[in-house]
Amino acid sequence: MKLFGTNGVRGVVNQDLTPELAMKLSMSLGTFMRGTVAIGQDTRISGNMLGYAATAGLLATGCKVINVGVAPTPTIQYFVRDNADAGVVITASHNPREYNGLKFIAGDGTEFGSDAEQVVEDIYYKGDFNLANWRETGEMSTVDIIPAYIDGILNKVNSEMIKERGFNVAVDTGCGAGSLVTPFMLSEVGCKVTTLNAQLDGTFPSRQPEPTEDVLTELSGVVVSLGADLGVAHDGDADRSVFIDEKGNFVNEDVLLAIIVKHVLSKKTGVVVTPVSSSQRIVDVAEESNSNVVWTPVGSIYVARTMKKLNAVIGGEGNGGVIFPEHQYCRDGAMTVAKVLEIMAEKGKKISELADEIPTYFMNKTKIKCADRDSIMQTILSSASGNVDTTDGAKIWYDDGWLLIRPSGTEPIVRIFAEARTENRVNELLEMGLKMTKGC
Ligand code: MG
Repeated sequence: MKLFGTNGVRGVVNQDLTPELAMKLSMSLGTFMRGTVAIGQDTRISGNMLGYAATAGLLATGCKVINVGVAPTPTIQYFVRDNADAGVVITASHNPREYNGLKFIAGDGTEFGSDAEQVVEDIYYKGDFNLANWRETGEMSTVDIIPAYIDGILNKVNSEMIKERGFNVAVDTGCGAGSLVTPFMLSEVGCKVTTLNAQLDGTFPSRQPEPTEDVLTELSGVVVSLGADLGVAHDGDADRSVFIDEKGNFVNEDVLLAIIVKHVLSKKTGVVVTPVSSSQRIVDVAEESNSNVVWTPVGSIYVARTMKKLNAVIGGEGNGGVIFPEHQYCRDGAMTVAKVLEIMAEKGKKISELADEIPTYFMNKTKIKCADRDSIMQTILSSASGNVDTTDGAKIWYDDGWLLIRPSGTEPIVRIFAEARTENRVNELLEMGLKMTKGC
């Protein structure tokens, strides 16, 4: 059985994901690379149980462990890049309450790639752990990594101008790790801050960790009643940010990415990197600045690694995960918040006005069960004509939209995405996608 999915190892606590698994995976990591490893966690209840098990595994293999406590995933990645040889983040990001996970971080602060994951997994299954002799078992220290991270962000945006504006911001950190960063960062940069769900609570009593539009009605109401400039919400480990405009409306994540790409390219042109599932809006704003979009498979690690290789100026996903290369090569929720405030400050515009400047498209998606994904994809690829991108599944471009058919890497399903200028056309494209996958 494959342990690593698209985001490290995830599972239901004490069913799929036990302390024993956490310890042995960490012993595998320590066998792979004995060195200094930072370990931290989101606010999930099983964080200590899994974190200390992972710590024991690392110490047993002679690693030096720096326990950074509860912190957002990007905060831990930022620390690892400059201070450790690797990282372990105990998080299940946006998954439901009963889940947790282990995410491994490479020495440069990026997520482990599949090659490194495979090596760790092989060691795990062989059980061939390189245990240290008693003298060389590791030591553990603790450190507060948050102040340096906030400074790092505020040094990379126009903090002075943000301060001058004195924005009024409501923040729903969803009882997740972002509670320890974003409200404090906003205060430091002169905002009037109102928090919702900023207590650390792994039962996530008020909303699920995934910040979808339907669970942010409370935040939207608070923004309107306060007359705030902006509402901000994170997922459980705060590598993603979504926004509510001053009228209380949810800002579509693809529109958000387009607003940021447009702003970045207005200062410096260059390559933009995003997964094939992202909106045509990204291409439109890139073309305005004579810049190129490079597509990657779906998954933030592909975006981050491609950005690094191509020295891209900006990149991200259409789910509120944005990567700023001047800061670090991973999705970063707090950095995204700071950048959005910078854009509002520099342009002197409301977030709804910035969103109105982005072209309108409609997107829809569905998924179907599919036992034999390989053969259906082969049939689609051999019959598809015209402009087809095979970066991840088959993305078929039409004059007035596109259709993406993508086999899941982890489940027996095929996902179908479509985007076009009108709702009617999107539904037509989606119908075509369903027809093409009929043999599933
Ligand atoms: Mg996340």
